[in-house]
Amino acid sequence: MNTIIKRTAALAAALFFLLALLPGCSVTVTDGGQTDGEKPLVVSTIFPQYDVVNNIAKETVRNELLIPYGTETHDFGVKDLTASRLETLHGASLIIAVGGESDELLIKELKTALAGSDVRFLLLTDLIKDLLNEEQTEGMEAETDGEDEEEIDEHVWTSPRRAAELARGIGRALCERFPASRAEYEKNTEEYAGKLDELDVRYQETLKNRTYNTLIFADRFPFRYLCHDYGIEADAAFAGCSSSVDPSLATLDHLYRKAKDLKLPAILCMEGSDPKYAKQLASKTGGQALMLHSCHIVSEEDAKKGYLGLLAYDLDVLKIALGVREDAN
Ligand SMILES: [Zn+2]
Repeated sequence: MNTIIKRTAALAAALFFLLALLPGCSVTVTDGGQTDGEKPLVVSTIFPQYDVVNNIAKETVRNELLIPYGTETHDFGVKDLTASRLETLHGASLIIAVGGESDELLIKELKTALAGSDVRFLLLTDLIKDLLNEEQTEGMEAETDGEDEEEIDEHVWTSPRRAAELARGIGRALCERFPASRAEYEKNTEEYAGKLDELDVRYQETLKNRTYNTLIFADRFPFRYLCHDYGIEADAAFAGCSSSVDPSLATLDHLYRKAKDLKLPAILCMEGSDPKYAKQLASKTGGQALMLHSCHIVSEEDAKKGYLGLLAYDLDVLKIALGVREDAN
């Protein structure tokens, strides 16, 4: 070691010692790779896992959402991050992304941009045992990008049953990353996942009394897991991650005829979409146009309901759309 480096090291050690003595300026070395005395930083790409972390890690971490509230998630990339935001991400301990087709590029870009940092990545799709492929429903328009091959459907968080599985998986990952808080995280995980389990039971009990078994979306369809887990059929204009938003007249006509034949009480759209097509079809069938929330494009206002609250809201929508008989409840 040359003299300059030796001196710099000695100076740094002295400074560290002095800082440690100053009141209110403690320098602690915590687990999870943090050395600056701040709480570790956990970053989630979208709202569901962000809210799960809020409920499990509570005040023990700095919990941040990567894609801002109300933003279309599918085309978000490192290009949308400011230099200072990217700098902050260098200090993150854990980044929780979705996995699957839609954020493949984002994860790749982040891994490149954050090379050499101590960040670990966790993917929601790695936490679900039984993944499903994207579904091509009868009325769905072909993808314009020519990518029609079978892909896994990554919208795993839209079903309360999978939500509980996700919460437990995120809980385990937090325990592993920040072992000092294990006992607290295990307790909070069970408490929160327990509420999701209860919601799952409410879904099952409520939907037992449905009159109809089909949902029609004049929109994209990110609800494959929700429909699969509760035995609901669906038809839609576009796949969950499609970039198309305007159905053709032939598609709209197909969806209208199906809803009319089945006498369905509602036509659905998802959050963040223009409800005009759902309204158009509903006015023709005499039903209602309703929004089912996929917790994907979450506004600041929606976020106040929490992930659990948004899933509970969806059950209220399903009650109407599937004609659940109230007297049977
Ligand atoms: Zn998507």
